[in-house]
Amino acid sequence: MSSSAPAPVSNFIRNIIDADLAAGKYAQRRWGGQPGPAGTHAAAPQDPAKIRTRFPPEPNGYLHFGHAKSICLNFGLARDYGGACHLRFDDTNPEKEEREYVDSIVDAVKWLGFDWGENLYYASNYFDWMCQFAEYLITAGHAYVDSQSAEEMRANRGTLSEAGKDSPFRSRSVEENLELFRRMKAGEFPDGAHILRAKIDMASPNINLRDPAIYRIRHATHHNTGDKWCVYPMYTYAHPIEDALENITHSICTLEFEDQRPFYDWVLARIAEGGLLQKPLPQQIEFARLNLTYVVLSKRKLIQLVEEKHVDGWDDPRLPTLVGGRRRGYTPEGFRLFTDRIGVSKADSLIEYTVFEDCMREVLNESAERRIAVLDPLKLIIDNYPEGEEEECHAPNHPLKPDLGKRAVPFSRELWIEREDFQETPPKGYHRLYPGNTVRLRYGFVVKCTGCDKDEAGNVTAVHCEYFADSKSGTPGADNYKTKGNIHWVSAKHSYACEVRLYDRLFLRPNPGGRREGDAPDLERGFLDDINPDSKRLIAAQLEPALKDAQPEDRFQFERHGYFVADRKDSAPGKPVFNRTVTLKDSWGKGQS
Ligand code: ATP
Ligand code: MG
Repeated sequence: MSSSAPAPVSNFIRNIIDADLAAGKYAQRRWGGQPGPAGTHAAAPQDPAKIRTRFPPEPNGYLHFGHAKSICLNFGLARDYGGACHLRFDDTNPEKEEREYVDSIVDAVKWLGFDWGENLYYASNYFDWMCQFAEYLITAGHAYVDSQSAEEMRANRGTLSEAGKDSPFRSRSVEENLELFRRMKAGEFPDGAHILRAKIDMASPNINLRDPAIYRIRHATHHNTGDKWCVYPMYTYAHPIEDALENITHSICTLEFEDQRPFYDWVLARIAEGGLLQKPLPQQIEFARLNLTYVVLSKRKLIQLVEEKHVDGWDDPRLPTLVGGRRRGYTPEGFRLFTDRIGVSKADSLIEYTVFEDCMREVLNESAERRIAVLDPLKLIIDNYPEGEEEECHAPNHPLKPDLGKRAVPFSRELWIEREDFQETPPKGYHRLYPGNTVRLRYGFVVKCTGCDKDEAGNVTAVHCEYFADSKSGTPGADNYKTKGNIHWVSAKHSYACEVRLYDRLFLRPNPGGRREGDAPDLERGFLDDINPDSKRLIAAQLEPALKDAQPEDRFQFERHGYFVADRKDSAPGKPVFNRTVTLKDSWGKGQS
């Protein structure tokens, strides 16, 4: 784990864990995994007394920044308490899940810097347990097979203010229920013909306790279990069992599951009464999900952006997917710092995107070496520098880390500078190049601007200047030259043209698709209405020679511009392609319409 991880700050989840450990809640555990139907153990028999958390993605999409919060939280707790965090694929739904997603999730969690050791699990491997427990619930009178149609079930469910009605099938005998459930399992009925429900209370004020479904019939092929099953457990029934089988101590999830907690506890308590689960049982703890301005963090919207080609695939650097963020140049350390900084709470909140970007800047400022790149090149000709001659200047690789040394940057008669570093008629307070002004060419010489060349349309095509031969940075007397401007440059003869991709926010508004001032009351906007048409710009930059051999994913600060990364896919040593990760300062809104 990186040394940049700050000391943990306490929060309500840590308080719960501290209290559980102080009370010796797990000290009595005898075995790690729960015994299963065939006398086998479901999972992880080692270290039964330790705390266990889990990250349980459903493999039906790529992970996004919100998942990173959950990953850092769960794996971070396990790390700090010397426990374990499981990576568990919650693959109980046969229809939407794919191997491609499983692989990408494994990669993303590793990339964030976390290790689950032996604790990699699939919920689908517990189908035998779930089925056995369902039969136990039937036998104990806690579950029944309902044969109402979907419409009847919906109608009898009641509303928030009205109790539901008991199903006419609620009083079936244990024998009849057991027989029907076994026939459901054997494939004797079509999808939807019957459903297994928990028998709790149709009048409960919590709708989730009005006899929720446990098992449904689905004649579908599952990516892991193939055609073995034609009944599949519902998520809300499966999840507590998965946690219990793996001896999860603290099952941390987002707030929308708060109303499900009574059912989570009900399922485990009933099964434990039958002696089929060991105590203490896992406890569910809810926290507020991550919401960020200027991005969408919902799989459904992300899928739409990809499928409708508003972006270039799942790893488009503008997407808040972890594969996208990685290509953008965001760092795992930055994600961990961000998670620690925003903390966890019970109250929903919206985090400013700049808070996220500042974390990335902070990490990159520490770690990224400095290099020079001219993004909008304009020729600067030093008329009194001998033609054909060249020499070396020396630039520090990192201003905060002198031990990283300096590198040679070639200097010659013709340089590239930024177009915006020259103005024929300077605005007030402009200290860069204009006729008659002197500036320092960073790490090089002081020059005095003498004029410029223009084409027929009046566009500046080159700037002319004269240099002071005794003003070279680092030489005696160089400090006698006082200049207000200090601009960067590369030698035209030595630099090379390179594709640089300037990425910006994908949405123009903090709440994509939200209402705007003056909107008619009945106007509905979609998040696509707020797409930023200038979120990607390709430019031909001029780079200093030291950047030529950059390896994919090497990160640099381009001085005065921001942080850049050699693209993971399209970049190769000798032929790099750079993506802008983030500007040096928050410049959002400047130059935007
Ligand atoms: P989405 O809401 O984007 O479709 P999901 O919740 O359906 O995501 P899962 O694969 O079920 O995705 O999520 C895995 C874990 O990540 C869950 O524990 C979930 O609570 C957590 N998670 C998902 N989104 C966020 C978020 N925005 N902030 C924090 N945790 C999240
Ligand atoms: Mg979900």
